[in-house]
Amino acid sequence: MASIVIIEDEQRIRSLVTSVLAERGYEVRATATALDGLRTIVDTAPDLVILDLGLPDLDGMELLKMIRAVSAVPVIVATARGEDRDIVRTLDLGADDHLVKPFSVEQLEARVRAVLRRASDTSGDDRIVVGGLVIDLKARDVTLDGEVIRLSPKEFDLLSYLAEHAGDVISRQELLAEVWRQPWGGSDKTIDVHLSWLRTKLGETAADSRYLQTVHGVGVKLVDPS
Ligand code: CA
Repeated sequence: MASIVIIEDEQRIRSLVTSVLAERGYEVRATATALDGLRTIVDTAPDLVILDLGLPDLDGMELLKMIRAVSAVPVIVATARGEDRDIVRTLDLGADDHLVKPFSVEQLEARVRAVLRRASDTSGDDRIVVGGLVIDLKARDVTLDGEVIRLSPKEFDLLSYLAEHAGDVISRQELLAEVWRQPWGGSDKTIDVHLSWLRTKLGETAADSRYLQTVHGVGVKLVDPS
């Protein structure tokens, strides 16, 4: 079972999160300060970190930078600061997801499962092959029939998410949550624009689609056209 380090100074939340996750079979270590947390991460190399931003000895954002300097461990930031700019900043600093306090036990579990699943997806096999499309997740390279395709970071994330779920119809809501990390919703327009750019780069159009197929009213799927 996966091991999780929780860094949270509020005793009530720390014990709640610890007991909930331990009940689900995770191996949990909890610390109340940033420096204890960093030491625990270095010593135990956990599979996931849940990090509170408001800590007594060091700002959580600073700690996040320090964690990223030594480890690629997935980090879920738990914060009372609901403002978008804080969330965006933590994602820019390398957080994998976030929870806004107060969060429910169900939200916590869902985020933990999702982040661990993503982490194991990419550590298992670094390449996804769908027809003539080869996506190297580590190198972030894409080739189509042997030709390199240049994608923006978001286009790459979108394509690799669809490729990881090739054949499945993915809803816009799921794309917003998983690729744009906006589980609270956002603009469909953003997705449409990126899909259209991606189509152009794959040499296809919505009317004459090969890999990227829109399922009207449901979502989009990536398929092997051969
Ligand atoms: Ca706190």
